[in-house]
Amino acid sequence: MSKNKIAADPLNFAIFYEYIIGRNVQLNNELTDLLKNQDAFTPELSLKLFKKYICDTSFDSLENISQILLQLINKTGEALDSTGEKASAATIGFENQFKKLENNQDLPEIKIVLTEIIAGTKELAETSITLQAQLDESKTEMQSLRQELAHARETAKTDALTGLLNRRAFDQKLDEYIEIHKQNDIELCLLILDIDHFKLINDTFGHQTGDNVLRYTANLMKKHIIKHHCAARYGGEEMAIIMPNTPFDKAMEIAEKIRVSLAQHPLKLKGSKKSIGTVTISIGVSSFKIDDSVESLIERADKAMYRAKDNGRNQIMPEDFI
Ligand code: GH3
Ligand code: MG
Ligand code: MG
Repeated sequence: MSKNKIAADPLNFAIFYEYIIGRNVQLNNELTDLLKNQDAFTPELSLKLFKKYICDTSFDSLENISQILLQLINKTGEALDSTGEKASAATIGFENQFKKLENNQDLPEIKIVLTEIIAGTKELAETSITLQAQLDESKTEMQSLRQELAHARETAKTDALTGLLNRRAFDQKLDEYIEIHKQNDIELCLLILDIDHFKLINDTFGHQTGDNVLRYTANLMKKHIIKHHCAARYGGEEMAIIMPNTPFDKAMEIAEKIRVSLAQHPLKLKGSKKSIGTVTISIGVSSFKIDDSVESLIERADKAMYRAKDNGRNQIMPEDFI
């Protein structure tokens, strides 16, 4: 980034993080062209790339929520101000009328003052009804914003292509679970899964088919994991599953189910009878040890996965393969 004089801000970091890990092919192509042409990396361009390739829905949605929230705060504030001003004016009016009543014994005069008090009270009551209506409207809007915010939060955690957790959510979950498992003596396992010869699928059948294979594999993972497991897209065609409170044997068993269910049927091109052939996956499995860090747990699963590749792919390798 510094070589290309690109500002070190959070948006650019997010964009170049994606670029370096290389999982977002279209972003990489566009960025490679931009860098080659030495295009100026303006804040507008960063925002455009961020929205286009990284966080479109959640970003727009959050922007929308904050706009509505601002309008709501302004409207409610105005209603409160206006009610406050009217209430102060009415208080002064009532005090004056009270003084008039104290010094006056004349009945017609008293009648006039009383009429004024009734009119003032009525006006105040109307103001308070307006305020109540405004507050009710704000409450309803707040409730729908709360739902929209919950939805945006979910979107921000989800990988758009596969519906699995995205990398950021995976990192957070693994941190959380490792903290919990440090304090409790229960087993935590990690699976790293990588589709075999995925580049060949892309090269032979096109990216669209590659994307469909990714979705299909993600759905198989979702089908076989237990409810409290967290399946994530780790990057590109590499996925991961965090299995809290799960013995190693059980983790291996689930990994085997995923592997077999993918390998047993050749896949077909969408909307056609043409076969893609059998898609296979290699899986590495590690289990949490008390002195583990996030990195060491991932590293052992990763190494095991690469060993599965070296051994001929379409297989599962436990961390203690040596
Ligand atoms: P190996 O068996 O050793 O894992 O080989 P491979 O071909 O699967 O691995 P390689 O790392 O050489 O290629 C992975 C390819 O995945 C390269 C990249 O273009 C592609 N890819 C990454 N993300 C996506 C995506 O979102 N959609 C599609 N269609 N392809 C992607
Ligand atoms: Mg692969
Ligand atoms: Mg890979």
